[in-house]
Amino acid sequence: MDQRHYRKGRMDNPSNYTIAINKLRDRGVEVEDIAKITYELQTKYIKDLTLEICIEHVTRVILKREVQHAIFVAIDLDVLAEKKLLSEPLQSIVESDLGLFGVDEVLALSVVNVYGSIGMTNFGYVDKLKPGIIGHLDNEGKTGGRVNTFLDDIVGAIAASASSSVAHNYAG
Ligand code: MG
Repeated sequence: MDQRHYRKGRMDNPSNYTIAINKLRDRGVEVEDIAKITYELQTKYIKDLTLEICIEHVTRVILKREVQHAIFVAIDLDVLAEKKLLSEPLQSIVESDLGLFGVDEVLALSVVNVYGSIGMTNFGYVDKLKPGIIGHLDNEGKTGGRVNTFLDDIVGAIAASASSSVAHNYAG
């Protein structure tokens, strides 16, 4: 990221930003993958929206400290579950991505909450439709011996939040 373009906000942590995107990348998620979902969510409302603009807003979201913290918790829990290092019954619950387990969504909501009601609506939408990388993570979790129980929700939450950030930027 070219940090010159970003005025550091009070809630931002640029050094943990780099750690966060590296951890996402290690799990197969690029900023651009998330931005594609944001683009899909907002392109019908903003006619001159570009993927570049969406990448910028995804970056802004991941610069935020509370978003980084949610990413760290999500990825570590998935990785620990993959290595079978959690204790029971949590190990089985996370590993099998049990439908009745809602803590993954609750953690993701802590990201969306930063961005208000548009983020919330979009999060519900992506959680249901699982577009792009989210669908990929979901499949990988079901078939590939990978655990993405927390990550798919966090990625959806970041895409939804960035979409809210885009919307606010273009409003009025
Ligand atoms: Mg999940």
